[in-house]
Amino acid sequence: MRNVYADNAATTRISPAVFDAMLPYLKDEYGNPSSLYRLGVRAKAAVEEARRKVAAAINAEPGEIVFTGGGSESDNFAIKGAAELAAKKMKKHIISTAFEHHAVLHALSHLKKQGFTITLLPVHENGLVRPEELAAAITPETALVSVMTANNEIGTLQPVARLGAVCRENKVLFHTDAVQALGSVPLDVKAMNVDLLSLSAHKIHGPKGVGALFVKKGVVLANLIDGGSQERGKRAGTENTAGIVGFGAAAALAAAGLEERVKRLTALRERMIAGALQIERSRLNGDRINRLPGNVNLCFEGIEGESLLLMLDLKGVSASSGSACTSGALDPSHVLLAIGLPHEVAHGSLRLSFSDENTMEDVDYILEVLPPIVERLRVMSPLWDRIQLST
Ligand SMILES: *Cc1c(COP(=O)(O)O)cnc(C)c1O
Repeated sequence: MRNVYADNAATTRISPAVFDAMLPYLKDEYGNPSSLYRLGVRAKAAVEEARRKVAAAINAEPGEIVFTGGGSESDNFAIKGAAELAAKKMKKHIISTAFEHHAVLHALSHLKKQGFTITLLPVHENGLVRPEELAAAITPETALVSVMTANNEIGTLQPVARLGAVCRENKVLFHTDAVQALGSVPLDVKAMNVDLLSLSAHKIHGPKGVGALFVKKGVVLANLIDGGSQERGKRAGTENTAGIVGFGAAAALAAAGLEERVKRLTALRERMIAGALQIERSRLNGDRINRLPGNVNLCFEGIEGESLLLMLDLKGVSASSGSACTSGALDPSHVLLAIGLPHEVAHGSLRLSFSDENTMEDVDYILEVLPPIVERLRVMSPLWDRIQLST
């Protein structure tokens, strides 16, 4: 049986070059980057080299990169850090969307309990925010706008540069979660008009537990983690040297292979979509064109996402339904509800996410095993008879 890992939006395999780059810092180069002897100085140099690589991948200055413990921490730092300072100026309004990652949405619910007003913009059927609706939502109290560059479930790519321009015009801070976008779409913090941008290493064949927040020069945030003066006093804690070095290596690889990757992944995606839509009563979720090159998100009427995943797993295919964080639970996807799908459909989604490691043969294998699985599940589904009768 073939094994196909098609859940790269949940996490990716660490690439051999990244692993090799990290190894010395897990073994002999264990110095504390703050120490003054050579062992520490070498560790510090490795951290700064990684900072240059991450900065280069998004056209930022190295001094604008703060290393964090991952994408979730970067999102929390951006949102809570901006909110805390804005509150002192009586600006307690934040604008975002209903289909952000939970790291953003739950940070916002935390602030709501502290008296912030949160506006969640509609994302419409195609999952896109309309710049004019953002402009209309901004008030004199608005402190921050947070809209993700690429959605992790349905892959939608937002018109970030235009949303950023609206924020600039209104002098409102703009944060974007670009965790899924890094390595899949060109990222340029200057062209995107962003003030704050979140990244994570493990979505780009780097290690887990390390990420970064781009903080545009001149933008000040309250700290999320207090303590020592690491990261120029913005994020305390002895640096995760090996993780940071791995992130730097992964970011350089992600940026270098971008054009080629987009071409390859788009071809895989298109074949997957065309093949899957041959299945009767199937639909593609998210915008047909403005989407991540490696993202496919489908619904098959009458089918539970969970059962589909289990059957695919028995055939060696790893995929997900809804988001990885919720697919253990029976909650429908908040993303699919946000684009207007009814509850019963939002339960039955299948997300396939491809990376550099996937091949056309992987796609063909999925297309071979998927239709019979859908058919078998439908035969067992009490819903399916009703759906067929109803039209
Ligand atoms: C994975 C992911 C995160 C969280 O990153 P971690 O490094 O796992 O904390 C945040 N936002 C998006 C869009 C993601 O896909």
